[in-house]
Amino acid sequence: MTTLVWDYKQEYENERDDILDAVDTVFRSGQLVMGKSVAGFEQEYAAYHGMKHCVSCDNGTNAIVLGLRAVGVKPGDEVITVSNTAAPTVIAIDQIGATPVFVDINESDYLMNVDQVEAAITPKTKCLLPVHLYGQCVDLAPLKALAEKYNLELFEDCAQSHGARQNGVLAGTTGKAAAFSFYPTKVLGAYGDGGAMVTNDDEVADNMRKLRYYGMAKQYYVVQTPGHNSRLDEVHAEILRRKLTRFDGYLAARRKVAQRYQEGLGDTELGLPAITEGNDHVYYLYVARHPKRDEIIERLKSYDILLNVSYKWPVHTMTGFEHLGYKTGALPVTEKLADQIFSLPMYASLTEDTQDKVINALREVLRTL
Ligand SMILES: *Cc1c(COP(=O)(O)O)cnc(C)c1O
Repeated sequence: MTTLVWDYKQEYENERDDILDAVDTVFRSGQLVMGKSVAGFEQEYAAYHGMKHCVSCDNGTNAIVLGLRAVGVKPGDEVITVSNTAAPTVIAIDQIGATPVFVDINESDYLMNVDQVEAAITPKTKCLLPVHLYGQCVDLAPLKALAEKYNLELFEDCAQSHGARQNGVLAGTTGKAAAFSFYPTKVLGAYGDGGAMVTNDDEVADNMRKLRYYGMAKQYYVVQTPGHNSRLDEVHAEILRRKLTRFDGYLAARRKVAQRYQEGLGDTELGLPAITEGNDHVYYLYVARHPKRDEIIERLKSYDILLNVSYKWPVHTMTGFEHLGYKTGALPVTEKLADQIFSLPMYASLTEDTQDKVINALREVLRTL
């Protein structure tokens, strides 16, 4: 059987009865959109984070689009983020007519280099958008200080960091608001698309609730600001509620997989993920590094192992973002790492047998490179 970076079929086998019960519960409830399951999930997900509000929506990209609008980002504003991210982070900024501004990343943890942020602030800057990539948090204290000093919004992209902590504080609870994705591969994944924003700010939550519902305040059915249709379906909300009860178990399982990789590969020349001090990593992706990355990936195919690179093309080098005016060479660490990193299979239901197959194949490939 082909080994992939992510696969949900084992999880479905393990949880099938509960997932099917969730689907049946919704289908028999008489309400398929914006019913009890969405309300229940929002309450439970907010409570998990100790936050006042969770407002769900149809995917993580729209959680950023609507979330940025909800905190007041407007066309022409600049938003400081990174180029080593999933393209939707940047698409979301671009989509509301704001301008993404990139800083480079750290060579150690591949996350936003916060030392470069202050120099990137201009009179047009409105928001700092750190991406807690791969499952660990960007250094948030300096960003919070800069947001206060320059009167900026701090908005966290938590699409890869559900449950991650920094000095004990959960990802998504430091900034004005935070966006999550429940795309199936994510640390908390639905069986389809889903997203949410969390915030402690009543006005931001209210804005988001309107924006996902055409821009209407529900009770009046009058559009106040032209919005979107961006609702989470009941069926996904109910599945997410069930999975949230098992969530801490998923995190423990992922950490165990990471530990076995460390034990099985720690003595090779492969660069393994570095955990920055104070961080609890949730390993959305297990990202390794090697200068001969492409050759390793190619040779693993003969073992029926297909690996991915996240992300092979930094966003600022993509043709769709030429209008931002970045040239190759603008973000040297981002560009160098994009040629060296690759992801090993990582998900909570990954079996030890499959992991051993990956470890053994990698050891053999590395020995004969
Ligand atoms: C997955 C992801 C998104 C987008 O989420 P979707 O649910 O796929 O729209 C945004 N940012 C990051 C960092 C992601 O990994």
